[in-house]
This record gives sequence, structure tokens and C-alpha cells, in this order.
Amino acid sequence: MNEFEIVRRISDELPQAPPEVLVPIGDDCAVLRLGERDWVAASDMLVSGHHFKGWATPEDVGYKAVAINVSDVAAMGGVPRFVLASGGAPDPETTLRCFRGILEACELFGVYPLGGDTTRADALTVDVAILGELFAPPVLRSGANPGDLLAVTGDLGASAAGLLALENGTSGSQRLIRKHLRPEPRVVAGRIAAGLGVGAAIDLSDGLASDVRRLCAHSGVGCRVHLDLLPIASDTRAFLESLGRDPGILAATGGEDYELLISAPEPTLDALAESVETPITKIGEVADGVGVFFRRGDEPVENLSGWDHFSS
Ligand SMILES: [Mg+2]
Repeated sequence: MNEFEIVRRISDELPQAPPEVLVPIGDDCAVLRLGERDWVAASDMLVSGHHFKGWATPEDVGYKAVAINVSDVAAMGGVPRFVLASGGAPDPETTLRCFRGILEACELFGVYPLGGDTTRADALTVDVAILGELFAPPVLRSGANPGDLLAVTGDLGASAAGLLALENGTSGSQRLIRKHLRPEPRVVAGRIAAGLGVGAAIDLSDGLASDVRRLCAHSGVGCRVHLDLLPIASDTRAFLESLGRDPGILAATGGEDYELLISAPEPTLDALAESVETPITKIGEVADGVGVFFRRGDEPVENLSGWDHFSS
């Protein structure tokens, strides 16, 4: 069973949602109406040995656990407001250091920590739950329409390159390592995209190849993605080429970019690009049908896939 199937099986067993639940499980966040206001809610967990190895400090792990939740809020167009953080570690010192990273991220993203829990655990484990506030209708995965273009924020593949640098013990790739250990989710771009009424969005956690399939599946559409158009920074490209890796493939499959993939009509994407400092790069087109096709020049690229949390 992969992660997709597990979520679907759990979804099948859920009770009927109360009326405050506007969007149930299955998107980047659920959407709740509490009083007059709409909120998004999500949680995400990091486990030592699975999501990170010895190169990440406990502070890095705490920071990233908050950041990946902030990224889910950003994908909905929400503004992150509150977190609950729980974690376990083999010793109290590691727990404290991890919570320092959590607090550092809370300060950076303007999030207030409401509480949480700690316990002793064999491996450092952190789970963060987040509440974000909506100031525009939420951007769902399901709103992509044929004729929309696909665009991404920022650049792709830097986090995967940073991970390779850490695995190889290579120095001199500090920006890439930072992109991996200390991602900065696209909250401003997500909020402005929501205000502009973009069709759909998802954050790029598992890799473009996986996440674009999710977005298209939720929307009941297909798409073409042009690998030649993927925004890859020159330091990412140079580092990957020095390792004999294909930058285009890594950018499509590497994961953990925590950029946003957005589907919208071209004029809306142009308006977004004019409103935010973050680069917005068009990478493909949404089409009728259900096929997700990757191309490089005129050649199809087959069998691209991202990260599956239960396959390794
Ligand atoms: Mg997500």
C-alpha cells in the first residue's frame, strides 16, 4: 500500500463531516468555518532515519516540521497563525534543541505555538499541527481547468541537490543545503494567488512528478509539463552536473522544494508574477483527459515519479 491508498482507505472510514467542515481530508489542508471566519488545518510529521539522517541538527528538524506545515497552509492561500507541536527524542537535550528550532520557525513565519506534548522516543520524531486563516476562498487541488497553464514559484531541484551534498559530505553548496534543511514556504505568493482566484494549487513536497499528478487527479484533468521550462538555478545545475546527475530529472522528481504548483489562466499567472517578488515560471498546460505527460523538446519522458513515503 502506498501513502495515496492509505489516505483513501482512511477517508472511506470517516464519519460524516459536521457542517463547519467545508473541505474534508484529501487536500493540502482541511477547511473549517468557525464563526465568521474560514480556517485551514493540517498536520505533518518528521521521523529520524526516514525523513532525515544525522546531518540535520535537532534545531533543523524542529524548524522544518513547522515549515512543511506552513507550506500546506500556503498552498491553500492561507496565512499561518497557530501550531501545536509534539515530539519525542531519546534524551531531553535533543528534545529541547528540537523545540528551539520549532520556536525559531514560529517566529519567522509569524505563527503562535499554542502547546503540544513531549515523550521519550527511540528516534527523534516531531509532529506539528497548524491552523491558518483564510482571507480569500481557499485554493483547492481540484480547480484546474483545461486551457489553464501550470506554473511554479521559485526554483526546483535545489533541495534535492542539497540532500545529495549532505549525503556526499560535500561542502561549498550552502544555499542548496539551506534549501533542504531550512525551506521557506511561499506564504505571500499563495495568499496573493488566492486573492487573484487561481484555479488550483498544491505545494511541492514529494516532487513535481508526483504532485502534478495529484493536482490533475483531483481536478479530473490531464496536463503536459515541459522539463526544459523547469526553473533550475545555476548553482543547482552546476552541482548536479558535477555529480553526473540530470538536473531536469532531479528537478522533476527530487521533492522537498516546498514551492507552489499553480494552475490558472495565463492572464492570472501574469498578474501573480507582477504582484510577487518570487519568480513565477510557466512549465506546462492543463488539458482535457487524464494523461499527465512530461516532455523534453519533442521527446516524451516516461516513468517519472516522485517520493512515496511507504516505498522506502
Ligand atoms: Mg502538501
